Amino acid sequence: MKIAVFSARRYDREFLSAANSLAGHQLAFFEARLEAQTVALAAGCEAVCLFVNDLADDVVLKALAAGGTRLVALRCTGFNNVDLKAAADCGIKVVRVVSYSPYAVAEHAVALLQSINRKIHRAYNRTRDSNFALDGLLGFDLNGKTVAVVGTGKIGRIFTKIMLGFGCEVLGYDVFHSPEFEALGARYAAAAEIGERADIISLHCPLTPETKHIVNAHTLSRVKRGALLINTSRGALVDTEAVIEALKSGQLGGLALDVYEQEADLFYRDLSNTVVDDDVLQRLLSFPNVIVTGHQAFFTREAISTICETTIASVSEFAAGLALSNEILAP
Ligand code: NAD
Repeated sequence: MKIAVFSARRYDREFLSAANSLAGHQLAFFEARLEAQTVALAAGCEAVCLFVNDLADDVVLKALAAGGTRLVALRCTGFNNVDLKAAADCGIKVVRVVSYSPYAVAEHAVALLQSINRKIHRAYNRTRDSNFALDGLLGFDLNGKTVAVVGTGKIGRIFTKIMLGFGCEVLGYDVFHSPEFEALGARYAAAAEIGERADIISLHCPLTPETKHIVNAHTLSRVKRGALLINTSRGALVDTEAVIEALKSGQLGGLALDVYEQEADLFYRDLSNTVVDDDVLQRLLSFPNVIVTGHQAFFTREAISTICETTIASVSEFAAGLALSNEILAP
């Protein structure tokens, strides 16, 4: 099958080509993000392979269908960037990578948490300039602290296990109560208790209409003063402007983001020689107690191998007319 791979970077070429070596699909790599302006690149391709910031809305899906595309293969877990109903109306099937390495994301969340807590980003810069002073680098022990995990699915549960290993108490918040989460030795709590007690809040729920801006001015006003917020899930879970106000007032003690609400035009690109036209992000980056990584939590060798192997296997299932193991059905 001919597959148009959008948002393709060097590592996508390397790992997808390796995964495809036996399957023998025809891969056409495009660095461009899929959107209305670039959809013509997929003409004649029965499948498109998309990543987190490609846009498969109603307009794009109609254009894809007109060009002969019958399958959208997402090489990621989240699918908030695909209009599933429009895809079904166009006769396009959608598959994703349900699970690859949840460890990659959970471990990155821990790395961000400890960086922001122990000021590793600041120490790194200081010591390179032979500044070995400790002022401003004071952190806290994780042992004995309370951690809130919002979304206790695959990633949230691994993050929980690691936090319990540090000696933290873990409070879960989820619309679905998982016995596996409780079996780890954590418990569920209401939003009010999380607000009162959590020293650290880590987001691991998907972006849906219900979770958009789940962290907003109101919820921030109820968190424990000085709490740390970690978001490795999706940018729009957080109202960024409200978070900036909370950082300015000290209500939030620190913020670590791997995802950002307006990341689609920024992340996965080298913009170091340009003036970035995003005042909100620039303001965020001006705080000493904020760390931003560019949606890299998934980016481990193990995870990317599994992502590419699963994606190629899904395309092969489709090509063979088999049931799709990783299909996402329209709601
Ligand atoms: P999962 O489906 O296993 O778990 C998600 C959990 O969120 C479920 O338990 C679900 O019940 C819960 N949830 C849904 N709606 C909720 C709500 N309104 N309030 C609270 N909880 C709610 O998913 P996962 O594999 O653990 O992934 C979680 C998220 O991580 C994904 O949706 C994706 O956005 C993000 N992610 C980020 C990266 C990255 O590189 N930064 C990589 C993979 C996944």
